[in-house]
Amino acid sequence: MVHMTQPHDSLPTDLFIGGQWLPSTSRQRIDVIDPSTEAVIANVADATLEDARAAVAAAAAAAPAWAATPPRQRSEILRRCFELISRDSDKIARLIAQENGKALSDARGEVAYAAEFFRWFAEEAVRINGDLSKAPSGQANTLVQYEPIGIALLITPWNFPAAMATRKIAPALAAGCTCILKPATETPLTAYLIGQILAEAGVPDGVVNILTTRSAGKLCSEILDDPRVRKLSFTGSTEVGRVLLRKAADSVINCSMELGGNAPFLVFDDADLEVAIDGAMLAKMRNGGEACTAANRFYVQRGIAEAFSARLAQRMADLRVGDGVDPQTQCGPMVNAAAVDKISALVNDACAKGAKVIAGGDKPARQGYFYNPTVLVDVPPTADLLREEIFGPVAPIVVFDTVDEAIKLANATEYGLMAYVFTADIGKGMRISARLESGMIGLNRGIVSDPAAPFGGVKQSGLGREGAHHGMLEFLEAKYISVNW
Ligand code: NAP
Repeated sequence: MVHMTQPHDSLPTDLFIGGQWLPSTSRQRIDVIDPSTEAVIANVADATLEDARAAVAAAAAAAPAWAATPPRQRSEILRRCFELISRDSDKIARLIAQENGKALSDARGEVAYAAEFFRWFAEEAVRINGDLSKAPSGQANTLVQYEPIGIALLITPWNFPAAMATRKIAPALAAGCTCILKPATETPLTAYLIGQILAEAGVPDGVVNILTTRSAGKLCSEILDDPRVRKLSFTGSTEVGRVLLRKAADSVINCSMELGGNAPFLVFDDADLEVAIDGAMLAKMRNGGEACTAANRFYVQRGIAEAFSARLAQRMADLRVGDGVDPQTQCGPMVNAAAVDKISALVNDACAKGAKVIAGGDKPARQGYFYNPTVLVDVPPTADLLREEIFGPVAPIVVFDTVDEAIKLANATEYGLMAYVFTADIGKGMRISARLESGMIGLNRGIVSDPAAPFGGVKQSGLGREGAHHGMLEFLEAKYISVNW
């Protein structure tokens, strides 16, 4: 590993607790690595359990005033967050490209998406509507009001370091909750920069607290053990999601879970080839394949399979692989060496079982955690990559004959986050969508993420939804008052 002086002296790297930037009580630091160069670019504080308790205390101290802040005022602070993130979008995008490795164009897209959560939830903050009805017995009036659920622990992954944080912080704040964000250890700098921007936008001290740590399990357990914490919102792997759900059971904490995916990408004979290819490139290659929504398995009907495979192989081979921050780059490095090893192992397993490589299939000979954009055909049903999240630039293609066969293959997974359907016949596409076990469907579209739409999965891809009005309900508790007057 190459060690460099810190290029980010001006960036916050300490814990953000109660509006203060504080070193860890242990003074331990965690290196942050640029996956394009393998260089250490900064180090951040490694929070202790004492720091975790201080963050809960800060969130608790700020909670009553924030919950009592008029919705209009909360809304205007959130709107200001949107404006300042937009103002600083170039700086944030470069930082994401550097610490995560994604191509700068992807990072810019992420920052725009991240900012939009503040604009959307600024608009939602003033629409926390209750309900009034007559009880069916006629003997009472049923009044339902919504209240902030309480202190929220927000845990986010490294693949969208800005957007996964703002997708939780914005609705939490709109609902009147205070929070503690635990960002991924691979990408802490973006979280701290956003914390700094939120403070500038007028988010009061203690309303948002941010902790980085090498001991995620212990630190999050400590926070969840505090009875003042009433919400856990997690985005990450299904494996860690299961661990956290078990932990949350101890204190019956309300959980929102955005977990892993294994998205099928279905292309029918009647699809427009270029529309399907453009959709495939977006669905597969946004973030270099490191997305929960990434197309993981391509099921292509026999009549279009050869043309689709050849064209996809050409488009993938044409991608420019390079450093995240290089504006010419179309596919950056993976987040770390372990990610590349996993991708290599999955491709090797598929090939050993009979798959053929028609693009890529190897690592480029260069510094950094790279894997070449890859297309595999003749992938057998036993290949591990049809069951596991590849989380990289690899497109396995399987040929099918009938609609029923395609749906059966698509649904043969424990996941249910995202599915893509490409057909020129919208009626057929709608009927197929109805039969797919998936929280979200891209019908002739390779990207669906939108702050105004409910994002989330079924089966083992998660619980609850983020974005839309649904996203704020996750941070609100209904209170029912039965009343006569
Ligand atoms: P991960 O390993 O599950 O980690 C996610 C977060 O959980 C990180 O902040 C991690 O901290 C923390 N964590 C790990 N173990 C923990 C524990 N025992 N208790 C509390 N927190 C713990 O996932 P990842 O590798 O960062 O992200 C990739 C995964 O996220 C993929 O499966 C992807 O599909 C999923 N994802 C889902 C969505 C969605 O909306 N459904 C969106 C994006 C990503 P450390 O970094 O310190 O380990």
